[in-house]
Amino acid sequence: MSRDPHCIFCKIVHGEIPSVRVLETDRAIVVMDVAPVVKGHVLIIPRDHHEQVRDLPDDLAAHLGSLVPRVTRAVVAAADAVGSNTIINSGKVAGQTVDHCHWHVIPRLADDGVDWPWPSQEYSGDEKSRIASRIRRELDVSAD
Ligand code: AMP
Ligand code: ZN
Repeated sequence: MSRDPHCIFCKIVHGEIPSVRVLETDRAIVVMDVAPVVKGHVLIIPRDHHEQVRDLPDDLAAHLGSLVPRVTRAVVAAADAVGSNTIINSGKVAGQTVDHCHWHVIPRLADDGVDWPWPSQEYSGDEKSRIASRIRRELDVSAD
């Protein structure tokens, strides 16, 4: 099992600092976020230490993703919510503060006061197709 001795989530996984767990599997734990965006906010945390989502092995990512519908149903019901956000912040620039990849599941209520949506941009000229081509190349998918 991979762990980082300085990582707060590795310490949570190994029971070295306290957490409120709501679900455990062989590869992940689900804990209450200590500072919820909306009350009922939980974190799906892989037991193995991987810094960002891009570092996750596909099978572990599939396992974490497979928990999202079930966890979301429970969180939404427990918070008397009507929707939810599932978010992964990856990298400091994207708001990641704990460098052990995790999924946020946040219940949403009509009057929860959380500011959404994010701002949006517009593509100009052939920018969209150029970026799409680059993404396909990076994905190793044959060209347009
Ligand atoms: P992120 O900013 O995406 O890296 O999210 C880190 C999340 O971890 C934040 O929502 C924090 O409130 C939460 N957090 C930090 N320390 C703890 C802890 N000891 N127990 C539970 N949640 C924590
Ligand atoms: Zn860790």
